[in-house]
Amino acid sequence: MLREVSPSRILIGKLYRGEDLLERLTAVCREKGVRLGRIEAVGAVERARVGFYDQRMRTYGFFDFGGPMEILSLLGNISLKDGEPVVHAHIALSDAAGAAFGGHLAAGTKVYACEFLIQELAGTELHREMDEATGLPLWKE
Ligand code: ZN
Repeated sequence: MLREVSPSRILIGKLYRGEDLLERLTAVCREKGVRLGRIEAVGAVERARVGFYDQRMRTYGFFDFGGPMEILSLLGNISLKDGEPVVHAHIALSDAAGAAFGGHLAAGTKVYACEFLIQELAGTELHREMDEATGLPLWKE
């Protein structure tokens, strides 16, 4: 599958201490009507919840990391699931010793500070549907 899209609006903003990182980024997309796009962010979190997809079991395992951490990189995309914008993002974090780790961003990650950029894309919308080969909600052809 391959689509050609064009750059559209760029939104830049910040989140506030205590907000849920994934839920707020998703809310921004819904509030601003972004249905297709890319997203990036840097900042810091008070705690994090990330997932790792067990390909054999076909289920997500979730890890909770406590303590202050830097957001080294949050990268993701915005597409549609059940007609609503969803953010699929992966996050790399670092601890006080500089050790890095991360995963599939899940709800439950609390913002300390966050600066984000959302690039809206113009083109045919992408809809997520369950993919039999992986058990994941992937983009429909
Ligand atoms: Zn993922």
